[in-house]
Amino acid sequence: MTDRIIGKYKGKVGGPLLVITAAMHGNEPAGVKALNLLFKMLEVEPITNPDFVYKGEIIGIIGNVQAYQKGQRFIEKDINRCWTADHIHYITSMDKTRLCNEDLEIKEILEVINQEINDRKPDKMYLLDLHTTSSDGIFCIATNDSDSIKIAKDIHAPVILGLLHGIAGTTLHYFTKQNVGIPALSLAFEGGLHNDPMSVNRCIAAVINFMRTIGVINAKDVENHHDKILQEYANGLPRLVEAFYKYTVKDNEKWEMKSGYKNFDKIRKGDFLAKYDGEDIFAQYDGYLLMPLYQKQGSDGFFIARDIE
Ligand SMILES: [Zn+2]
Repeated sequence: MTDRIIGKYKGKVGGPLLVITAAMHGNEPAGVKALNLLFKMLEVEPITNPDFVYKGEIIGIIGNVQAYQKGQRFIEKDINRCWTADHIHYITSMDKTRLCNEDLEIKEILEVINQEINDRKPDKMYLLDLHTTSSDGIFCIATNDSDSIKIAKDIHAPVILGLLHGIAGTTLHYFTKQNVGIPALSLAFEGGLHNDPMSVNRCIAAVINFMRTIGVINAKDVENHHDKILQEYANGLPRLVEAFYKYTVKDNEKWEMKSGYKNFDKIRKGDFLAKYDGEDIFAQYDGYLLMPLYQKQGSDGFFIARDIE
C-alpha cells in the first residue's frame, strides 16, 4: 500500500477531500513526478509564505502500481475501462486473495479512498486523474456536470466533452455521488507526451489551477506562471470541443498510425490517417483529431471532435 500512496497533505482548515490519481496507465510517469514535487511544495509553502492556508485534505495515489513498476500501460487490461458499477460490485465483493492485476489495483484504490472518507467525513470529494498521451497536446476531459466543465475551463487547457460517450468504465464515469456516497466531482487532465519533461510541469500547473478553482487554496497564493505554462501551450487550440467519433482498434498489433499527427490537428474527410491490417484508414469527417494512437497497447485508434464554442 505504501507504494500506492505518493503523499498526503492535510490543511489546518476543514474542506473537501481531493484525490489526485496518476499512472492509472503505468507508462505515464509524469503525473507521479508532478505529485511528488507538489507534496514537497506544499510542505515548504507555509515556511516561505506564513499566510498560506490549505482547506481540507489531498491524497495522491498511483493508479496501477504493478504496471507502473513495469513501465507499461497495463498488465492484463486497461484499468481505465474497468470502473463500471457491475465490475466494481464484483471486485468489492471478492476477497483480495482471489483478485489479481488490474482488479486488485482497483480494490486497493477504493480501500484508500473509502478509508479517507470514513476517517475524515468530508462533505465533498474531488477527483483529478492525471494522464499523458502518446501524441503531443494538452486537454481536460470533463463530465457532463456543468461544474466539471467550468472547473476544466479554468485550468486553461482545451476542454473535451463527449469522450465519455464513446467509452465506458473510466474513473470519471465511476466517481459520482451515487457510487461514492458523498457529492463527487471528477475531471481528467492530459499533460502532453508521456516522456516529455515539460509534461511534469504541465501536470503541476493543472493541479494548482484546479486547487485554486475549487477554492482549497487562495488565488493570491498562486503564482501566475502556472497559468502561463498552460495558456502558452494551449495557444491557438480550441477552448471547448465535443468528440463525436471514435475508431476502435481490435488488434493493436495490426495498427499503424500515420506518423506526425498530434492532438487537435485539423483533418478533412478523406485524409489518410492510419493503416489497419494492411488497409488504409481515412477520416470519415472533418474535425479535430484527438488521441492518435502511437503506442503498442490500447484500443482507441483516434477520436474526431468539433467545436462547440
Ligand atoms: Zn492515460
